[in-house]
Amino acid sequence: MKPILEIKDLHVHFYTYAGVVKAIAGVSFTVYEGETFALVGETGCGKSVTSRAITRLIESPGRIVKGSVIYHTKDGRKIDLLKLPEAELRAIRGKEIAYIFQDPTAALDPLYTSGYQVAEAMVVHRTVRSWKDGIKRAIEILRSVLIPDPEKRVKAYPHELSGGMKQRVVIGTSLSNRPRVLIADEPTTALDVTIQAQILKLIESLKRRHNATVMLITHNMGVVAEIADRVAVMYAGKIVEIGNVFQIFKNPQHPYTKGLLKAVPNPLIKVEKLESIPGTVPNLINPPPGCRFHPRCPFVMDVCRVEEPPMVEVEPGHQVACWLYTKR
Ligand code: SF4
Repeated sequence: MKPILEIKDLHVHFYTYAGVVKAIAGVSFTVYEGETFALVGETGCGKSVTSRAITRLIESPGRIVKGSVIYHTKDGRKIDLLKLPEAELRAIRGKEIAYIFQDPTAALDPLYTSGYQVAEAMVVHRTVRSWKDGIKRAIEILRSVLIPDPEKRVKAYPHELSGGMKQRVVIGTSLSNRPRVLIADEPTTALDVTIQAQILKLIESLKRRHNATVMLITHNMGVVAEIADRVAVMYAGKIVEIGNVFQIFKNPQHPYTKGLLKAVPNPLIKVEKLESIPGTVPNLINPPPGCRFHPRCPFVMDVCRVEEPPMVEVEPGHQVACWLYTKR
């Protein structure tokens, strides 16, 4: 497997009046070409911030304070996106690395037609020669994302489209330049349950057709089981476990991953009360020392309260950061 993105020791801080929020604290992982890599965890664990930091989309008061994001280009070069001049990064962002954001209503501009917005991505990156060509391509793209009657919908404004259709337009915009990496940040959260499965299937089939790599950001373990190849579990700004989808679902090792999976309702098993992880996510202005999960962990030991556990391999391709698996 060839790496396409290598995120190394990433740190992102937010400078607020209440103090410095250490939102991402030393996140490292590799995404390989052609795979669907899922980043999962509770709301506020840092998944979206990590995905946005990849192409420096962190807005003030946030700042990337440390780390590197190595992008492997098609012609075999390795470039650190965090050090690239803004103009060069802009040529990659939206063209080679594209995003599908959570809320299609917020992602689309209400003043422009869907066709204009799909065409604009191609005109800006000069993958079409003119606006006329862009609109022609936009009709084809809307058809490929299964929008009925694309010749008519290309002239529709966002308020004239349903939620599912708006998300299809957003996906079309993201795919218009045939990106090598597609970062989908909770792409189905704002949609009805009936539409969610259709959108996931669409992302999967487009990924195969364009031979793209997908990085999926989600808190929904059902979605992960459905389409991911490999999974990284995040807690309080850190990766606590990485493995392939079978290792994570069949043989989870980290107490937090086990808790997350137990909290997923199983329609085949009747239970009085759903399991939950006791306690709340820590305040990242003053995160707990040692293992950030220790105040909620049923297996906590003395070492967990003072020293951060290193990431260790428990089986080929399966890594976990927990003192239960490491000799101090
Ligand atoms: Fe629990 Fe300690 Fe493992 Fe953290 S390092 S998950 S506190 S056992």
